[in-house]
Amino acid sequence: MHFWPSVVVATPAHSGVGASLTYRSELLLAPGTLVRVPLGAREVLGVVWDCPHEPPEGLTEARTKAVAGVLEGLEPLNARWRQLVKFAAQYYQRGLGEVALAALPPQLRDLSNVQLARRLKRRPATGTGDAAVCGASPDGHDLSVEQRLALDALADAQAPVLLFGATGSGKTEVYLRATQRVLAAQGDAQVLVMVPEINLTPQLEARFRERFEPLCGAGAVVCLHSGMTPAQRLSSWLSAHTGQARIVLGTRMAVLASLPGLRLIVVDEEHDPSYKSQEGARYSARDLAVYRAKVETQALPEGERCLVVLGSATPSLESWHAADQGRYLRLAMPARIGGGALPRLRLVDMNHQPKGAVLAPPLIDAMAERIGRGEQCLVLLNRRGYAPVLACHDCGWKSQCAHCSAFRVFHKLDRTLRCHHCGFTERVPRACPDCGNLDIAPVGRGTEQVEEQLVSLLAEVKRPDGAAARVARMDADSTRLKGSLELQLATMHSGEVDVLVGTQMIAKGHDFRRITLVASINADSGLFASDYRAPERLFALLMQAAGRAGRDAAQSAASEMWVQTWYPQHPLFASLKQHDFPAFAMTQLAERLSAGMPPHGHQALLRADARTQQAAQAWLNAAAQAALGLPHVEDVTLYPAVPLTIQRVANVERAQLLVEAASRGALQRFLAAWQPVLLETRSLPEARGLIRFAVDVDPLVI
Ligand code: ADP
Ligand code: ZN
Ligand code: ZN
Repeated sequence: MHFWPSVVVATPAHSGVGASLTYRSELLLAPGTLVRVPLGAREVLGVVWDCPHEPPEGLTEARTKAVAGVLEGLEPLNARWRQLVKFAAQYYQRGLGEVALAALPPQLRDLSNVQLARRLKRRPATGTGDAAVCGASPDGHDLSVEQRLALDALADAQAPVLLFGATGSGKTEVYLRATQRVLAAQGDAQVLVMVPEINLTPQLEARFRERFEPLCGAGAVVCLHSGMTPAQRLSSWLSAHTGQARIVLGTRMAVLASLPGLRLIVVDEEHDPSYKSQEGARYSARDLAVYRAKVETQALPEGERCLVVLGSATPSLESWHAADQGRYLRLAMPARIGGGALPRLRLVDMNHQPKGAVLAPPLIDAMAERIGRGEQCLVLLNRRGYAPVLACHDCGWKSQCAHCSAFRVFHKLDRTLRCHHCGFTERVPRACPDCGNLDIAPVGRGTEQVEEQLVSLLAEVKRPDGAAARVARMDADSTRLKGSLELQLATMHSGEVDVLVGTQMIAKGHDFRRITLVASINADSGLFASDYRAPERLFALLMQAAGRAGRDAAQSAASEMWVQTWYPQHPLFASLKQHDFPAFAMTQLAERLSAGMPPHGHQALLRADARTQQAAQAWLNAAAQAALGLPHVEDVTLYPAVPLTIQRVANVERAQLLVEAASRGALQRFLAAWQPVLLETRSLPEARGLIRFAVDVDPLVI
């Protein structure tokens, strides 16, 4: 007597959503069981999807292989998890096995049962998970009225919640209390808290540990993100899967973790683009979180639910629109804790500043004054390195990358020209490589240059203790070494540094207490970019950056956000001045409606990488041609293939084709019909030179 389990394994992309392989087994294997199965010459990890008594038509014993073994001691992955994975694969047009296996820790593949048993035993002890223990009340502050109202509303919410809270309004405390309530109500409840980039916000992790480890035990809080070692990832995953971890803090990948007791999902800074994956299955972890909460709720007894909370001071227009329509419950916390004011906006009209000034003199004066009072400043710009281009003014040579359609960035500190797209790095030439001119010069500015200028412009400025003002820089270059980010944040918190220059990483959720001035010095590129989401991103960035200032209520009245711009009349600044996100969202949504853009319309991209631009476009256009006879094609618009903004990266040419539909359903029906056709077009003559293709559903950048 045999069973015929169908098993999903990590298959190459696009091998079809329903793809699973049939094996033989002596044992009846529950769906979700983790197994090792032979595949070609190897043995691979797989997940049992189904285990029928009868073989599928046409399969005989001789033509199937036996399951090699079961991963012992692990409960099967439950039906809700499997439904989530299946949905993600279908919705984002990827292989079921690819998505399922990518959601499991890589090390699980390599462990023998003996090793696995050892790992399972080695887990730090959690408390009993006793509701009474976890229910003890936190010592901490009293909730503000707004926090209390939001928490009460959360308890009764019947829909996903959009927590629209100003920066410094105390959203984190609401997450902590909501978590506490869920854990106290149920001895085996689990909470998933997602953040855009965990390393940038070590404070959040510290606050969860501080609050819950004394209550629920040392192993109650675990992290899950791609910066962890394989061993750490396995350990966290096992904790989550066995229910020992009560709280999982993670980045977007955590949305696919196995969490059998899941009762609450928090998506902090829900508007952040890093929730959308840009490779493999290009899923949105925020959208999957909403779906996951729905699936979990459906499996619970009547009246109980798994709640999902999306938090932001500048929500995505998708979520804002959903709240407008009543699909999400919007809870607002407009006031800052302690009654502090949001910083005042100061626009610096660059048309009236000395020619060539990178930093406007009035801004420098304002900074000097703050430093003199012992306050701190942040200076934000979106480019690292010294200058984005190095150029020869005699012959027109520029520091073009040999492999990309982009310029190499001049890094003065190590005298290199570096391509930020492919990594190609060379020493800065002594003279122009084309004409020998010795006078090659940087064009434009990056963080290194602004740091250098600030050091010289503030050279005479003294802190209250009489010491000279200190300027530091924080960006991907300065934080590359392990531990350097934490160190830099610490010098900021301790007040050693007076001015911090950096890319947008300095604007993220840090709770710096002494910042009273934030400056954005080159925001204009976001005002006129061709990308229709650019204003939304700029508004969010500036609001978030402003949110770093005046977090101490005593200083908040004098806190300021400076923006240097050539276009002070731009309407975006009018909303920003009022801190009026709703007004900004309303105008943006109206524009999107008239243009049929998301969230009023739905999009997917077909992307192609090829040896030549012509080959990439030829294949895309052939794929569009092949779609013409398909069902549901009349419900979508297929646009002609176009090159990407940066069309060549590492010698690969990139092009894309936009698909639009009025409804999500119509787009999904068409993509499902198109998927098998796309696979067939790989054998067309037009596919010569094609390297790979990918579908991006709900793309963030088009
Ligand atoms: P947000 O995430 O909304 O920007 P935080 O949760 O970081 O805001 O809260 C801002 C600051 O206010 C933090 O230092 C936090 O410890 C403090 N805080 C939060 N809630 C309260 C409260 N009810 N009473 C006093 N301080 C609070
Ligand atoms: Zn030259
Ligand atoms: Zn390059």
